Amino acid sequence: MDIEVLTGSCLCGAVTYEVRGPFLRFAHCHCRRCCKATGTGHATNLYASPERFEWRSGRELAVRYDLPTARSFATTFCSRCGTPLPHHTRSGREMVVPAGSLDVLPSLAPQVRAFWDSRMPWSCTMDDLPRSAEYPEGWR
Ligand SMILES: [Zn+2]
Ligand SMILES: [Zn+2]
Repeated sequence: MDIEVLTGSCLCGAVTYEVRGPFLRFAHCHCRRCCKATGTGHATNLYASPERFEWRSGRELAVRYDLPTARSFATTFCSRCGTPLPHHTRSGREMVVPAGSLDVLPSLAPQVRAFWDSRMPWSCTMDDLPRSAEYPEGWR
């Protein structure tokens, strides 16, 4: 079986990366932190094992922010254009890849809407995906 290879980049093009499947999950998250970090109604992230991720260019422009009041929330963005970029979870066990920064379509589609109970009433939600009040079953 061929290994799925996805490439991604930021808006200004300085930061580029590659991430290889198989992927752990693909999910929308409606929590307030994701709204702030993305500037919209939810984040959409693809999760992969860290050893399957590689920066291609511009790594030095990627700035990480670990929210001090959170157990694990972090974000990373291009310091030139602000695009949300991949980052590892604080545990180091997973890479969180913002789907909007991908340059190609992943083979899988989002599987769940996390933190459904925190959603903004104006957020796009027109689908039949399972909704989880907070963390979906099986998430840490
Ligand atoms: Zn950029
Ligand atoms: Zn979230």
